[in-house]
Amino acid sequence: MSEQEQIILDTVDRFLAREVAPVAQALEREDVYPHELVEKMKALGLFGATIGEAYGGLGLPASTYVKIVERVSAVWMSISGIFNSHLIMGAAVEQFGTQSMKESVLPRMATGELRGGIALTEPDCGTDLQAVRTRAVRECDEYVIDGTKQWITNSVEGNILAVLVKTDPDTTPAHKGMSLILVEKHSGYRATKLKKLGYRGVDTGEVRFDGVRVPAGNLVGEQEGRGLQQILSGLALGRINVAARGVGVARAALDASVRYAQERKTFGVPIGQHQAIQIKLADMATRVEAARLLTEKAAIAYDEADRCDMEAGMAKLFATEAAVENSMEALRIHGAYGYSPDNLVERYYRDAPLLVIGEGTNEMMRLIIARQLIERNPI
Ligand SMILES: Cc1cc2nc3c(=O)[nH]c(=O)nc-3n(C[C@H](O)[C@H](O)[C@H](O)COP(=O)(O)OP(=O)(O)OC[C@H]3O[C@@H](n4cnc5c(N)ncnc54)[C@H](O)[C@@H]3O)c2cc1C
Repeated sequence: MSEQEQIILDTVDRFLAREVAPVAQALEREDVYPHELVEKMKALGLFGATIGEAYGGLGLPASTYVKIVERVSAVWMSISGIFNSHLIMGAAVEQFGTQSMKESVLPRMATGELRGGIALTEPDCGTDLQAVRTRAVRECDEYVIDGTKQWITNSVEGNILAVLVKTDPDTTPAHKGMSLILVEKHSGYRATKLKKLGYRGVDTGEVRFDGVRVPAGNLVGEQEGRGLQQILSGLALGRINVAARGVGVARAALDASVRYAQERKTFGVPIGQHQAIQIKLADMATRVEAARLLTEKAAIAYDEADRCDMEAGMAKLFATEAAVENSMEALRIHGAYGYSPDNLVERYYRDAPLLVIGEGTNEMMRLIIARQLIERNPI
C-alpha cells in the first residue's frame, strides 16, 4: 500500500469512527437522509473519488476505491450508495461525453455540488433494459422526455440523473435505438421516495418525466443509439463497488460475531468455545478473505483497462452472497439479541439482500460469467 493510499484510508477511518458510527443506527432506523454526513463527504472529496484530477476529482484507481467502499459499508452501507451511482454516472460521462459536457458536469460532480444517479430501471423492466419505454423525442435543439423510472437511488436528494431512454423505439436490435441523456432536476422531473427493507437513509425513488425538456447537448456522446453500451461500461465500476460493499457487510457481520462469541456464555463457557460456533466463524472469515481477493482482482483488471466483466461479475456474485450468508450466520450466533433493531447485525441482515439485486442480479452475474468463459475459451 502506498503512503498516499494509507493517508486516504486513515482519513476515511477517522471520518467513519467519529462522524458516521455514532449516528448511523438512528438515521437508518428513521430512514432519514444524512445531510450533515453528505457535507462532510463533500469535504473529504468522496464525490470525486474516481473522477479524473483534470476535472477536480481525486482520480483514485479502483483498487483504492474498493478499500474505501469496504470500510464505509462495514459502518453504514447506505452512504456508499450515495456516491456509487453518482460515480457510475461520472465514469460514463468521463468515458463517452464530449469535452464540453465533461467540463460542464464533472467538476461540479467532483465537489458534490451536483449529486448524480443512474435512471435505468422502470416499473415493467429492470434486467431486460432493452425493454425500457421512456421516450426522448428530438425537437429542434432539445429533447422532450416522457416516461417513468423506478427504484432510482439519489433521485430525491440528488440533482442530476443519467437517464436511459429510447430515441428510436422501432429499431432492432432495440439497443440501437437507446440513448443516455443527462437531466438536471431543475428541468422538471418529479421524484417520490420509496420504502425499503434495508439500505435506508439513502433515497431510492420513482421518477416521472412528463414532457421534460433538456438541451440536445445533454445527449452523452452526441450520437444517438449508444446509451446501453455507455451505461453498461459505467456499470463495471458499479459492480466492483457493490462487491466491495458485500465485503464490508460480510466483514462487519464477522467482527460482531467474533466479539459476541467471546462475551456470551452458555453451559458455563463462552459460545466461541463450542465447535458449532467455531465452524460458523471459520466459514464466515474464509468468505470475507475470498470475497476481498476477488474484489481486488476485479479492481486491478478495471484499472488496467482489461475487459473485466467476468472479474467484476465473479466478485459481485461471491462477495454479495458472502454478505447475505454472513449476516444470516451473525443473526444465528447472536440468538434473540440479533433479532432486535438495537443490534447492528439486524441492520446487516436487512441491508445485505439488496446487494444480490442491484447493479444486475446475481442470476445475471452467473450468465455473464458463463458467456465470458465461452467467449474467452473458444475451441
Ligand atoms: C434499493 C434499490 C436501489 C436501486 N437503485 C437503482 C438505481 O439507482 N438505478 C436503477 O436504474 N435501478 C436501481 N435499482 C433497480 C435494480 O437495478 C433492479 O431491481 C434490478 O436490475 C433487477 O430488476 P427487476 O427488479 O426489475 O427484476 P426483474 O428483471 O423483473 O427480474 C426478476 C427475477 O428474474 C430473474 N431474471 C430476469 N431475467 C432473467 C434471465 N434472462 N435469466 C435468469 N433469470 C432472470 C432476475 O434475476 C430476478 O431474480 C434499485 C433497486 C433497489 C431494490
